[in-house]
Amino acid sequence: MRGKMTAWNLYESIRGILQQNGIESAQLEAWEIAAKAAEVDRRNAAVWRQTEVTPSQRKNAGEMLIQRLRGKPVAYIIGEWDFYGYTFHVTNDVLIPRSDTECLCDAAIREAKKRENPKVLDLCCGSGCIGIALAKNVPQASVVGVDISAKALEVARENAERHGLDKARYMTQWGDVRRMHNISGVYDILVCNPPYITAEEMEQLDPGVKEFEPHLALFGGEDGLDFYRILSKRYAGKLNPGACILVECGWKQARDIMALFHLGGLVEIGMEKDLAGIQRVVHAYVPANSSEIKEQ
Ligand code: GLN
Repeated sequence: MRGKMTAWNLYESIRGILQQNGIESAQLEAWEIAAKAAEVDRRNAAVWRQTEVTPSQRKNAGEMLIQRLRGKPVAYIIGEWDFYGYTFHVTNDVLIPRSDTECLCDAAIREAKKRENPKVLDLCCGSGCIGIALAKNVPQASVVGVDISAKALEVARENAERHGLDKARYMTQWGDVRRMHNISGVYDILVCNPPYITAEEMEQLDPGVKEFEPHLALFGGEDGLDFYRILSKRYAGKLNPGACILVECGWKQARDIMALFHLGGLVEIGMEKDLAGIQRVVHAYVPANSSEIKEQ
């Protein structure tokens, strides 16, 4: 396009190119790319027709478009993504927050609201999106986010600061959930969206996921259940009596996880569907009299 170009024009032309290339969510993605390149508020569409883009902004948009057409997910291109009404910084060291996971976050917030000054442990925290959204919604909660990736923890820390949470509200701690040697404290709520993709599913991931997202955050062992086994065996004993464990799971894993939790001595075990109708969350409680649950 020659002459003047507004952010709106930029959006339209990007959308057209994405559509021509068969990108399904062209509209949303064009909006994100144009907003980032033209530095306009993506939530305030009213300014888009009045904001003129500079040649260098146009060039940036072009570069982003090229990356998109090479398959890179738009969240990694623009470096941020929305989850639970908050915008999170993301890099390719963390998974892109999924809307499926909002249902886990919802359930954890509901649990946290029932308790006084709840101490929350977010294992495999990645970008920190679950624990941070929880801390924002439950002002008395304090959250510890644990991850095996130091780079992911940097992202989580940055997100906590971005959302005004000091270290008393949201702390990061490095740890290998499978070894659990250095996780300190006693908790009321354990929330975890672990890697749960099976060996077979790893082969069939969408190209955008397979090529760009961290496999460390996806692969949950041969049957995808490695982390749930560890959670039920080793973590229940680290929680307060009556504490709640909430996990996200793959589309056909909920029943197996319920069985594992049952074997681990947890009680009041249940599952919850996501918006697509898939059993996505399993929750369970440490018995109020939990002396019988010891680290196994
Ligand atoms: N839901 C993610 C996916 O299908 C996987 C997330 C995870 O393993 N925790 O790509």
